[in-house]
Amino acid sequence: MRLGWGRSSDVEDRFEKWIAQQHQRRVLAGETTPAGPHPDEAFLRDLACKSKKVSLSDPRVDHAATCPICMNRLLELREEYRSRARYWSWLGTAVAACAIIAIALVVWRVAVGRTPSTSTAVIAQTVNLFDTGVVRGEHPGQLQSVTLPAALIKLKIVLPRHSAPGQYLVAITRDQNGNGVIAEGLAGTEATGNQQQITANLDLRSAKEGQYFLSTTHEQDQAAYYYPLRIK
Ligand SMILES: [Zn+2]
Repeated sequence: MRLGWGRSSDVEDRFEKWIAQQHQRRVLAGETTPAGPHPDEAFLRDLACKSKKVSLSDPRVDHAATCPICMNRLLELREEYRSRARYWSWLGTAVAACAIIAIALVVWRVAVGRTPSTSTAVIAQTVNLFDTGVVRGEHPGQLQSVTLPAALIKLKIVLPRHSAPGQYLVAITRDQNGNGVIAEGLAGTEATGNQQQITANLDLRSAKEGQYFLSTTHEQDQAAYYYPLRIK
């Protein structure tokens, strides 16, 4: 059996509203006899905003419910209270919206600030090793330090005099034993006059500023040559 609570409570609500309207009409038309004196404005205000301070057994409630003057004032106060509540609710929504936008902006700024460089701009750099007289295994102390930016680098290296043509592995390492590889790339030689050049693409974007080594290793020779390098 369906009880249909939803529908029957709708009917009840409408019925109660109708009773209240009929009662209100009768009071305002002066068809009721109020008992006792008019309560003060403060009491009517409390009653209008359904304050918990007001007890329904208070005789002033009975009076206000049957007195046309008090009923009129009560209806005015009720309307005032409702529009104030609407205003505060609107203001609350607006303030909340502003706060959400402000928080989103702060979060966005922090996120942008913290994002590591993801720039895809490639910076072309040239390192000329042509006149470096590095003997295999010897510390390249006489070589002036090369500085590269922490970015995507298209590194052109002019190989030392008498370098063999072929494939080279170019690497940026922490030390001159090939440990701690930061970036590496393969490149084939191109001859320009009596010079051999290689061009390698190296991603140094996540490299921290500091001292490193640039190494070149010929595919057949396998001996690596290290040159001091600084990343800024
Ligand atoms: Zn009254």
